[in-house]
Amino acid sequence: METISTEQYPVYIGNDSVDKLNEFLSGRDYTSVFILADENTKKHCLPKLKKEIPLHKIIQIKSGEKSKNIRTCEKIWKELSTQNSDRKSVLVNLGGGVISDIGGFAASTYKRGIDFINIPTTLLAQADASVGGKTGIDFMNFKNQIGTFSFPKAVFVIPDFLKTLNKRELLSGFSEVIKHGLIADRDYWKKIKTPLFLSPKERGLHAQVLPFGEDLGGVIISRSIEIKNKIVTADPYENGVRKILNFGHTIGHAIESASLKTKKHLLHGEAIAIGMICEVYLSRKCKGLSSEELDEITSFIISVFNPKPVTYPVKNLIALMKQDKKNKNEEINFTLLSCIGKAEINNSCTEELIEESIKFFNERLAPALKGV
Ligand code: NAD
Repeated sequence: METISTEQYPVYIGNDSVDKLNEFLSGRDYTSVFILADENTKKHCLPKLKKEIPLHKIIQIKSGEKSKNIRTCEKIWKELSTQNSDRKSVLVNLGGGVISDIGGFAASTYKRGIDFINIPTTLLAQADASVGGKTGIDFMNFKNQIGTFSFPKAVFVIPDFLKTLNKRELLSGFSEVIKHGLIADRDYWKKIKTPLFLSPKERGLHAQVLPFGEDLGGVIISRSIEIKNKIVTADPYENGVRKILNFGHTIGHAIESASLKTKKHLLHGEAIAIGMICEVYLSRKCKGLSSEELDEITSFIISVFNPKPVTYPVKNLIALMKQDKKNKNEEINFTLLSCIGKAEINNSCTEELIEESIKFFNERLAPALKGV
């Protein structure tokens, strides 16, 4: 087991971190333990924890982004209230980023705050969402519009949980991993790209579903957590440098929200992958990112995600971007790259340039689409 200590809580990484869970819970004198799960994590993950959390009550919510709202939150608060949860209760968030976001928010507001711990079960949550202390829900079709900065008491990362995750969800999580390399670590970027060229045998267990082997999967989770943790430690409440973690998210969140209004909604990481390509274009225009790196990043992301063109009206996307939490004085604020591994915060771009970046994305797809 590997432990990464953040200022506020430990992150235990490894399949054996599950052993630490019982010790952790029993050492804290909690009056009751609630587990927040969705139908998938209840089925696939909870049975593996029965021994470590012998006495608990389950709060089950429906899976997916569409549940990350105030109605689901009310359901969680109601269950905590009717089961007489007091301030010495703990909420264990067992699931992906939706569960850790909404569970963290519900716990941090219930009776002015009860403890919560995260047991992330998707790649996206293990490598990113479960650490950093951002909790929240979507509101009026705006992503994470309501939320708190609240830190879990501990995070337990059990990579084996990824074995039941489908390929689409795994790839969605890979998007945040790519982001970590692009904003902060050129060597890491090179590493995550390389295994794509290994044979399926060399890539190991997840060969069919992951663009990296099982061992490298573990390396990826801890390196991603390290990168995020270093940034969050420097600026826990996002007054400055933490904004670099939002690379790809200004346009990506708008695309994700627009897609949630349709029948074919995109997963968070799929939308962020598109957002990163658009924002790489903005980086070339505003920050002098080289055309070689623009090409390298764009080709890699397209090859991994095989995205579809963006057809939502640009004015709708821009209206959504105007709600982005980084904005100031009504200017849409971006984190952009000056080169791979180096991100710069607080860039504003005109609406014309944003529109151009979406056009660029669609045009880059054209050759790939023609080939189909
Ligand atoms: P998710 O939580 O919706 O999980 C994806 C799907 O996988 C769900 O259907 C879930 O039931 C299923 N699932 C989860 N674990 C499983 C397992 N082990 N086996 C089988 N199925 C499993 O989505 P996500 O991609 O994990 O998270 C996306 C959310 O995370 C978004 O709402 C995004 O805004 C948020 N996020 C938050 C932060 C943060 O810092 N707070 C960072 C990045 C993303």
